[in-house]
Amino acid sequence: MELASGVYLVPGLTLGNACLVTHPEVALLDCGLPGEGPAILSFLGELGLAPKDLRTIALTHADPGHSGAAPWLRRNSAARILASAGEAAVAAGERAGLGRALWRAGLALVGRRTEAFAVDAELVPGDVVAGFTVVATPGHTPGHVSFFREEDGILVAGDAVRVAGRDLLAPAFWNSQSEVRARLSISRLADLPVHLLIAGHGAPYREPGAGLRRAGGPPGFMEDLVRRRETRAAKRRRR
Ligand SMILES: [Zn+2]
Repeated sequence: MELASGVYLVPGLTLGNACLVTHPEVALLDCGLPGEGPAILSFLGELGLAPKDLRTIALTHADPGHSGAAPWLRRNSAARILASAGEAAVAAGERAGLGRALWRAGLALVGRRTEAFAVDAELVPGDVVAGFTVVATPGHTPGHVSFFREEDGILVAGDAVRVAGRDLLAPAFWNSQSEVRARLSISRLADLPVHLLIAGHGAPYREPGAGLRRAGGPPGFMEDLVRRRETRAAKRRRR
């Protein structure tokens, strides 16, 4: 499915979204679970692209639903793997990532082996990958980044934000390295002129500005305010 000029959601992946960008260079922003490399290359083929055309795999973070197919794809294409320093250390097994450890155990149960890998270069905020600027969005994981294309407001946000129907939510506290940092990251994303949000899971979300502002509100305070306002409104209705 082409979501915007030269931006496709790879169809048929089990868990995490992978975005294929076809210009100005062919790149993947996240790449699915271990074992999903062949499905991704066959989708490239449907678009008339060969494995040697794929030059870059850039990762939002190292959880296997987003990075699992990266080492296989590197062996079977012309791609280099890029990730932030913090996520690179987790991918290489040098730093424990709770999410990655849990996923590795879960995937082993269903016979999918998670491979440790070294990245080819580290991403820093402000870097540009295939027309997308790297934005630091720590919280779900310490080194999490998102990718933003200013010209048409496309944001690839990984697990920085969750799409739940029409709601946008911060990553759950049990699935965050820091819930507060996650909310602050979402607040920063809300300041960008985003027209289409592609989160790590779920359907693409158009015009997410208001939803991002709600999801990123100061922890506790906004929720409390809204709850009190709703209680007052309910009382007024009863009178
Ligand atoms: Zn994750």
